[in-house]
Amino acid sequence: MVKIYIDPGHGGTDPGAVGNGLQEKNLTLQIAIKVRDLLSGYSNAEVRMSRTNDQTVSLTQRTNDANAWGANYFLSIHINAGGGTGYEDYIYPGSSTPTTTYQNIIHEEIMKVVNFADRGKKQANFHVLRESNMPAILTENGFIDTVADANKLKQASFIQAIAQGHVNGLVRAFNLVPSGGAIHHTVVSGDTVYALSQRYGSTIAQIQSWNGLDANYTIYPGQVLRVK
Ligand SMILES: [Zn+2]
Repeated sequence: MVKIYIDPGHGGTDPGAVGNGLQEKNLTLQIAIKVRDLLSGYSNAEVRMSRTNDQTVSLTQRTNDANAWGANYFLSIHINAGGGTGYEDYIYPGSSTPTTTYQNIIHEEIMKVVNFADRGKKQANFHVLRESNMPAILTENGFIDTVADANKLKQASFIQAIAQGHVNGLVRAFNLVPSGGAIHHTVVSGDTVYALSQRYGSTIAQIQSWNGLDANYTIYPGQVLRVK
C-alpha cells in the first residue's frame, strides 16, 4: 500500500488567504476531498487527511499525525495570494530523489489539465515540508486575490480538474493500480456521463460516485474518469 497523507491547508479559525469572496481554507478542503475520492478507485492507495471539515489544526499536529501514521508521501494543498497568477509547487530546499522526481511528475500532470500559468517548481523552508519525515510537496493552486484566478477557482469543474491533476501525478509517481475490474476512460470532446454509462454498463450514479462528481458536475476533455 502507498500511504498518502493529504493536508488541506488552513481551516477553522485560520481562513488562510481571502479574496474575491473566497477563503483559502474552503478551496483547499474541496480539492483535498476530491483527491481522496478519486484515489479510492486505486487498490494500492491508502489515504489519511489532516482534516475533513472546517477544523483548526496546527502545523505541528499535521506533521506529527503524518509521521505517526507512517505516510509514504505528504501532499499539502494551498491557494496562493499576493497578486500573482498561476500554479507553483514547493519541496524542501536541497531535497534529492525521490522527492524531486515526485515534484517533477506531479507538476507536469497538474499543468497538463489545469489552465493556469506555470510559475515553476520551487523550494521553500515551510513547516510541513521540513517536519514531515517522508517526501513532501506543497501545491499553490492559483491566486485568491487575482480576479482571473479567483473566477476559475469559483467553478466546480476547475476544482475537479485541479484534483484530477494531483491524482494523475500521484498515480504516475507511485504506480497506483486501479481497483479490481475498474476501467478508466480519458474523456474526449462530445463524451457525456450518460453515454459513458451506456458504453461501460455502469449507472450514472456509480460514475458520479467513483469520481466525486457533485450535482453540478461537468466533464472535460483529458479528464480521466473511472467508468466501471
Ligand atoms: Zn496557504
